[in-house]
Amino acid sequence: MSKILVQKFGGTSVGDPERIKRVAARIKSYYEKGYQLVVVVSAMGHTTDELVDLAGKIAKNPPKREMDMLLSTGEQISIALLAMALHDIEIPALSFTGGQVNIVTDGNFSNARIESIDTKRLIAELDKKQVCIVAGFQGIDENQNITTLGRGGSDTTAVALAAALKAKECEIYTDVDGVYTTDPNKVEGARKLNQISYDEMLELASLGAGVLHSRAVEFAKKYGVVIHVKSSFNHNEGTKVVSENEIMEKITVTGVTLKSDDARMTVADIPDKPGIAAEIFGALADKKINIDVIVQSSSRPAGSTGKDRHNTIAFTLPIAAIGEAKSVIETLTKKWGAGSISTDENIAIVSAVGIGMKSHTGVAASMFKALADNNINIEMISTSEIKISCVIAKDRGKDALRLVHAVFGLDKTA
Ligand code: ASP
Ligand code: MG
Repeated sequence: MSKILVQKFGGTSVGDPERIKRVAARIKSYYEKGYQLVVVVSAMGHTTDELVDLAGKIAKNPPKREMDMLLSTGEQISIALLAMALHDIEIPALSFTGGQVNIVTDGNFSNARIESIDTKRLIAELDKKQVCIVAGFQGIDENQNITTLGRGGSDTTAVALAAALKAKECEIYTDVDGVYTTDPNKVEGARKLNQISYDEMLELASLGAGVLHSRAVEFAKKYGVVIHVKSSFNHNEGTKVVSENEIMEKITVTGVTLKSDDARMTVADIPDKPGIAAEIFGALADKKINIDVIVQSSSRPAGSTGKDRHNTIAFTLPIAAIGEAKSVIETLTKKWGAGSISTDENIAIVSAVGIGMKSHTGVAASMFKALADNNINIEMISTSEIKISCVIAKDRGKDALRLVHAVFGLDKTA
C-alpha cells in the first residue's frame, strides 16, 4: 500500500495565520505516522475574489493570460506561509508552484485542463522526507505561461496529483465535516454520509452542492482515486467518494439539492423540423452556457401539415447567462424568421440523486406526490438514471427541499 497521501486545504482552512499553524500541526501528526505527504493549498480566505476585484479596477477586460498570472499569486502566498509554519515546528517542507512540479495544462487561460504531470521532482523530494507543498489551481502550458484551472480548481490539482503519484487517498479538508444528504443550513435533519459514489457526487456538485469541484470528481472517477472529504476544524471521519461497486448499501436516494440561481428561458413558436434544437443548444454550448433541464412541447393543429407545426423549447440556465443566451438565440430566430424568447427568474430546481434509483421503481412518483400533497406545482421535470429534477416556484424552494428530503427517509432519526 502506497505511503503517499495527498492532502488539500481550502481557502477557509488557511484563512489566517492561526489557521495555517493549525494546518501545519495536522500535517505534522500525519508526517509522524510515516506518511509521505503532498499538500495542496488554495489561496487564503477570499484572496482570489479580491484579486479579481483588483483587476477590475485596472482594466475593463484584462487579458486572460494576465488574469492567470495575477490569480495564481494567491496560492503562492499560501504555500510559502505553510512551508514556513512547518519549518517552525521542525518538519522539513518545500513549497512548489504548479510549474515547478510540472503540472502541464493546455493553454486555455482561466479554465485550463491538466494534460500531464511529471512526478519525478516530487518523488525525489518525498524520498528525502520532505513534505511537498504544491500551489493548487495552477499549472503551466507548453509555452511556460502560467495557467489556472477554473475557480475552485485546487481540488482538481489535489486529485490529479493523487492519481499521478498513485497515492493511497486524496484527503480534501474543508469547512464542513463531509458530504451531507442536503444543505444542513437549509434542512435541520440533514445527515452526513459515510460514502457516496463518484456519479452521485458529480450530480450533487453540478446541482450546486458545492463541496467538491466537479472536474476533480471526474478525474477521481477516471483514475479510481478515493477522495476523503474532511473538516479541517475537527478530527471526525468525513465522507469517502468511491466507485459505485464499493458501496454496500445502495439506498434509493442519497442526496437532495436545491438550486436557486437558475432561470427558465422559453423559445416559443419555432419551426418543427430537424436541426432546430441542435442549433439552439449548439450555440449555447459554444458560449459554454450550462443548461440543466430541457423540455420541448409541440403544438400540432388538427390537419396540420409539416409546415405550420411549431415547437416550444424551454430550458434552465444560470441567471447570469441570460443576456448572452438571449443574444445568441435572437440571431437564430432572426435567421428562421420565427420564434420569440421569454425568461422567468422566479424558479428553483429541486433534485433527488441516488444510484439506488437504477433498481427501485416509483421513486419519481414519491417525489411528485410529496410536492403535490403540499400544493407545490411542478413546472418542468427532467430525469436521468440517477437523478430526478423538478422546476418549481422559487418561493417554495426551501419547502420542497425539506419535503423531498423527508419523503426519502433522509432525515436524521432523533
Ligand atoms: N483560489 C481559487 C479559487 O478561489 C482556487 C480554489 O480555491 O480552489 O477559486
Ligand atoms: Mg475552494
